[in-house]
Amino acid sequence: NAARSDNELHSWDRDHFFHPSTHMAQHARGETPNRIVTGGEGVYIVDREGKRSLDAFAGLYCVNVGYGRTSITDAIAAQAGKLAYYHAYAGHGSEPSIELAKMVIDRAPKGMSRVFFGLSGSDANETNIKLVWYINNVLGRPQKKKIISRWRGYHGSGVMTGSLTGLAGFHNLFDLPRAPILHTVAPYYYRREDRSLSEEAFTDHCVAELETLIEAEGADTIAAFIGEPVLGTGGIVPPPAGYWAKIQAVLKKHDILLIADEVITGFGRLGTMFGSDHYGIEPDLITIAKGLTSAYAPLSGVIVSEKVWRILEQGSDEYGPIGHGWTYAAHPLGTAAGVANLELVDELDLVANAREVGAYLNASLKQAIGGHRFVGEVRGEGMMAAVELVRDRDDRVFFDAAEKVGPKVAAALLANGVIGRAMPQGDILGFAPPLCLTKAEADLVVDATKTAIDTVA
Ligand code: PLP
Repeated sequence: NAARSDNELHSWDRDHFFHPSTHMAQHARGETPNRIVTGGEGVYIVDREGKRSLDAFAGLYCVNVGYGRTSITDAIAAQAGKLAYYHAYAGHGSEPSIELAKMVIDRAPKGMSRVFFGLSGSDANETNIKLVWYINNVLGRPQKKKIISRWRGYHGSGVMTGSLTGLAGFHNLFDLPRAPILHTVAPYYYRREDRSLSEEAFTDHCVAELETLIEAEGADTIAAFIGEPVLGTGGIVPPPAGYWAKIQAVLKKHDILLIADEVITGFGRLGTMFGSDHYGIEPDLITIAKGLTSAYAPLSGVIVSEKVWRILEQGSDEYGPIGHGWTYAAHPLGTAAGVANLELVDELDLVANAREVGAYLNASLKQAIGGHRFVGEVRGEGMMAAVELVRDRDDRVFFDAAEKVGPKVAAALLANGVIGRAMPQGDILGFAPPLCLTKAEADLVVDATKTAIDTVA
């Protein structure tokens, strides 16, 4: 309600709104940035005070088509006017849910068969976990249930998915179940322990660590491996050369299913429709969310391969309907948003734009700040980029966490009109702009970043 005063809203917010991933005490004391965002157009958002910012993080890597797209909001409104809700249980459906399923499979990597729609990336990964357990029960190997994830992987913050997530901040004090989740090394070349390793040797190290873990646990106890094509929340880290081909060969050898978590990379962010296409990954299951609707409505999904689908069919024939679903699974408003969103991605050729402007953004960042004495590395892939801030680039000395250099640079960047993200672990400034970013807008991001680093460091 626009008639509310700022004071009223801020005080109700402090007193009543329990925000996600927020320092609760600081927020209640009014010490956290309490920005009330009211609108958006293209790559810009605007707040109640009228301040505009170029959102170079697309919300949370999700508003891929940019803000204010009326073809999507009109599609949601039209669907709401016609049928806001009907469930999808026991074979029921709504028109946009069926249409979107077809559109997703048409765009998915080869071999993919069906899509289950959920609401968030977290619940989609919960679905993945249940499916791989179910599959191995149907196949008569009930001991093959462990799931391998990676340190620094981010797969959600539910009970099991929080456990998959390999970031300490999401585990602390929550007593998340450790078994049957195992973690292996993050494919993070810049932060490798043994600095003498070449990139190829580091890939081999990651693969050897995985094999050692599999052999120690027994391949007959491990159901699946989950990974993001490019690590996202763990620091925006593209894998080292040859990583996915070698990891995949190990998984195949041990009959371990591969779940590609494409919540961030699905639908164009790496300049290909899926990250799996970019890296030649052949997943058994794929998690999708964010770019599926560009966050115009909550919707996620699990895409299963034909091989997986056949086992699920076998399971139903032997044990009856699958006991898994949510009231809002395949919600018509979400799927209507998804249809209009994917149409817009095609119409504006945003996958190609992500490839072209993403390469430009990465090259420009490298050129502008790659040699800065407090920049250890500029890295990225497609429309994702990260700047690793370090005290000493030659000796790779990191800043003390208490100095909060990453958050300070992000705050200076915001003061310069650009939203980047201080990634949750390490002094890493991340970018994942809308896929419609132009080169002129990329220039604004780069200039503001350089100024911000100069100001703080
Ligand atoms: N998987 C990945 C790779 C993500 O980046 C995220 C969220 O950022 C999730 C899963 C969880 O998605 P959600 O926040 O919609 O539950």
